[in-house]
Amino acid sequence: MDLNTNPLDADKLREECGVFGVFGHQDSAALTALGLHALQHRGQEAAGIVTYKDGQFYSHRAVGHVGDIFNQETVIRQLPGASAIGHNRYSTTGDTTIRNIQPLFADFASGGFAIAHNGNLTNALALRRELVAKGCLFQSTTDTEVIIHLIATSRFESVIDRTVAALQEVEGAFSLVALHNDTLIGVRDPYGVRPLVLGRFENAWILASETCALDIIGAEYIRDVQPGELVLIDEGGIRSMKPFTSKPRKLCIFEYIYFARPDSTIEGHNVYDARKSIGRELANESGVAADVVIPVPDSGVPAALGYAEAARIPYELGIIRNHYVGRTFIEPTEQIRHLGVKLKHNANREVIKGHRIILVDDSIVRGTTSVKIVEMMRAAGATEVHMRIASPPTAHSCFYGVDTPSRDQLLAAENNIEEMANIIGVDTLAFLTLDGLYRAMGMEGRNDQDPEYCDACFSGEYPITPTDQLGEGPNPQLSFLTQLT
Ligand code: SF4
Repeated sequence: MDLNTNPLDADKLREECGVFGVFGHQDSAALTALGLHALQHRGQEAAGIVTYKDGQFYSHRAVGHVGDIFNQETVIRQLPGASAIGHNRYSTTGDTTIRNIQPLFADFASGGFAIAHNGNLTNALALRRELVAKGCLFQSTTDTEVIIHLIATSRFESVIDRTVAALQEVEGAFSLVALHNDTLIGVRDPYGVRPLVLGRFENAWILASETCALDIIGAEYIRDVQPGELVLIDEGGIRSMKPFTSKPRKLCIFEYIYFARPDSTIEGHNVYDARKSIGRELANESGVAADVVIPVPDSGVPAALGYAEAARIPYELGIIRNHYVGRTFIEPTEQIRHLGVKLKHNANREVIKGHRIILVDDSIVRGTTSVKIVEMMRAAGATEVHMRIASPPTAHSCFYGVDTPSRDQLLAAENNIEEMANIIGVDTLAFLTLDGLYRAMGMEGRNDQDPEYCDACFSGEYPITPTDQLGEGPNPQLSFLTQLT
């Protein structure tokens, strides 16, 4: 385990990637490094920046955290130009070798093209097979490279027309930023699964996965890029196109539960507010007599605040996190790694001892960390441990850019609530219902005919057919909402 990673997050779904783009600022690389730093939670394995100046592209990509990769002025100075794109990577497809670190880059007849992708293409393998059969030579194992080859082999003239044609062929989730010479391109897939926002900093335009990346540089939020929208930003200003067949919006609801930073606002909903609202709904649905509400840090904090408020039970920090344990603290040995949770977290005995506690966490994936936390609470003297989860049971894998274990690894796929409670070792366990989740987002409940969000990892209803998971190609018998078992 990376000691910079919160051990309590070791059993979470892993975020996808973060993207950032700048047009029209001489410090474009430095701004991009800051933006990527704010988006670090979306990918901690690798990061890269590509800039453009006077007909030349400049690139720096490496494994590690943004702060380690772009920590020297000399690195930033090697990335000149007023246009830049950047990417934080957590590998959902392809391993993390240098060739897979984004932005990817290709030379076309009309100039260079760099691309950074958040999401996952669901028909990338099928397209890749076709492209390889045509003679395309792939340089990486990422799904994103499929887009580059589709652009290269397109029959259209301009790179913009080629890009549109390429994106009309791919399926799945994509929020992209790209640079073609000094033109900055931003695109969101027709379902809008992953977020992408547009901002303004001085006279420059900014594209970013989340608004927290605008805040870090003091940029003004202009608007969300719309599902199915492609924006072109160059010396002439910004142009918007809607080149795709319109689809129902399916923003990933897990962005509100866990992935996005709480200080971000996505499609009009502040993430922190959404999490508190989820906590209130959870308390209304599954209240239990207890003395104290305790969040599992850090992701359970806003929901626990909402829960405590609605249940009128005191909120206390019963698990204290040591924020100062870095990678340099100790060379992890097998024995130290085994200590896991305790290295960075400790029970705050005074608020736990002799009390009936409600532990609030955002989700349960495998359940392995939950077992350790409950053990820690019991050892600290809790008389009863009730666990409340601020999302429905995660029982299905994600194919849209989130690293989920296979179904047989998901605790909720294999066990009912009572069995899960026994495995985790709690007195009671309850999850938020799907209807409750939608109520927390301001709706009356889930519209089962056409849910407002992608909630496939809870419901098993996949809004975009996961073609590659199903075999060779599209299956005509699959309906719009594909129920995978
Ligand atoms: Fe988000 Fe789950 Fe849908 Fe994946 S399956 S996009 S994690 S809601």
